[in-house]
Amino acid sequence: MLSGKTAVITGASRGIGEAIAYKLASQGASIAVISSSGNADLEAVCEKCRCEFNVTAKAYRCDVSDFGDVKKTVAAIKADFGAVDILVNNAGITRDGLVAMMKEDDFDRVMEVNLKGAFNMIRHTAGMLMRSREGCIINITSVVGLTGNAGQCNYAASKAGLIGLTKSVAKELAPKGVRCNAIAPGFIETDMTKDLDNSPLIKMIPLGIPGQVEDVAEAAAFLAAAKYITGEVLRVDGGLAM
Ligand code: NAP
Repeated sequence: MLSGKTAVITGASRGIGEAIAYKLASQGASIAVISSSGNADLEAVCEKCRCEFNVTAKAYRCDVSDFGDVKKTVAAIKADFGAVDILVNNAGITRDGLVAMMKEDDFDRVMEVNLKGAFNMIRHTAGMLMRSREGCIINITSVVGLTGNAGQCNYAASKAGLIGLTKSVAKELAPKGVRCNAIAPGFIETDMTKDLDNSPLIKMIPLGIPGQVEDVAEAAAFLAAAKYITGEVLRVDGGLAM
């Protein structure tokens, strides 16, 4: 279904990004994966894409918050793949704390990675996405960007900002055939949430269980194929933010 297309996925060394890489690879997309440490895990993701799904896959070490680093990395992806058709802005971090005590650096760093990182990636891939004529951007936001969350003012602000970025880019690039949507996961079992196993949040999920990375990957594959959907925020949260 996605053969002939190239997908770039940020934050793909583990968790949700890794699952999205496998899902898009299983549908035939060539895969470029990015993480800031560019470690063995990222190489292993590529290896699995090549061996299990028989697609081209390449790993790039890049800090998405760094405008110059992203520019260089996107140039390398262009040289290696020739095109970008699908961009998934998934890289994200948390540095939680109460607003009255939050360190300036904790606020800034979360905004830089989660929000500016997505801008940097869109800024440098926009030309290739427009040339694709069927370009597609998927930004991984969060339900807390819709609802807010005590102890996460930096993270929630970055994710709410991502929704504004999604809708603005959707309007701006629609005439060029580029769609831009967001996925808002709720509580998904990954490294990011591993210390929250007993969180009262889980009891608030109407479907009663935490989500799995594959649930988000399914939504990404759906949006990659949904030719008449743009500017949408798709919750994948078991009803949490309903
Ligand atoms: P995770 O397991 O912590 O993985 C985060 C990924 O982002 C890793 O591959 C990490 O690799 C990469 N990354 C972090 N900083 C980066 C940077 N500056 N530049 C490039 N890559 C960077 O997180 P996850 O739970 O899979 O979450 C993925 C996305 O979903 C995030 O945007 C998160 O906010 C969002 N989300 C998650 C949940 C949840 O319940 N898990 C809920 C809502 C939204 P390196 O460490 O090598 O950089």
